Amino acid sequence: MRELVTELRAWLAWAQESGLQNLATDPRPSPSPNPPEPTKVSPKKLPLLQSVIDELGDCTRCKLHRTRTNIVFGVGNPEARLMFVGEGPGEDEDLQGLPFVGKAGQLLTKMIEAMGLRREDVYICNTVKCRPPNNRNPEPDELNACEPFLKGQLGAVKPEVIVTLGKFAAQSLLRDSTPITRLRGQWREYEGIPVMATFHPAYLLRSPGEKGKVWEDLKQVMKKLGLQPAKGGAS
Ligand code: URA
Repeated sequence: MRELVTELRAWLAWAQESGLQNLATDPRPSPSPNPPEPTKVSPKKLPLLQSVIDELGDCTRCKLHRTRTNIVFGVGNPEARLMFVGEGPGEDEDLQGLPFVGKAGQLLTKMIEAMGLRREDVYICNTVKCRPPNNRNPEPDELNACEPFLKGQLGAVKPEVIVTLGKFAAQSLLRDSTPITRLRGQWREYEGIPVMATFHPAYLLRSPGEKGKVWEDLKQVMKKLGLQPAKGGAS
């Protein structure tokens, strides 16, 4: 019963963020129930990530370079057990050079915190590293040009679990055109790493009623990683 209440609180904390009103949560911030291990700077992972950045360089491999402001490589803990892969940078991300910093990113942060983690515990990146103009969908040549760099990030961080956000990340990583409504919630694998596909936070901002499904997906991820949900909700 106590677990159920804890879990419900964690879910409510981020469910409230986009439209679900009048849901009471404990406003007191609480420490993460999944304290990170003492910082151990891997002698291997940082240089591996740096070599992917070096290889990417001031990339002109696809047409997206013409309209980007910044390359949005990725951010987070090189030792992360959990990696989130989104679609591609939007306007805020393009301007700041960081993934998931706009409205959808704020919701992603709530999702991470509801899982009892902090943004800095995980690694966050996208399938394409440059913003598609007017936020159009990434095109196949762009996805192909960027794939080696996503592979490089995965190979460097070696997360225990990947969560893909939205249709493009799931379909391109898994090379499967099954609709996201059927891909989500099922364990799959990418080069031996378990993958959980779920809906994109931008979709949840438009359709907050779907948050329960995403929470179910995240619960499966927490179970696999042995994580406890946040107690007082996301701060
Ligand atoms: N949507 C994405 O898929 N990625 C971002 O970085 C921001 C919004």
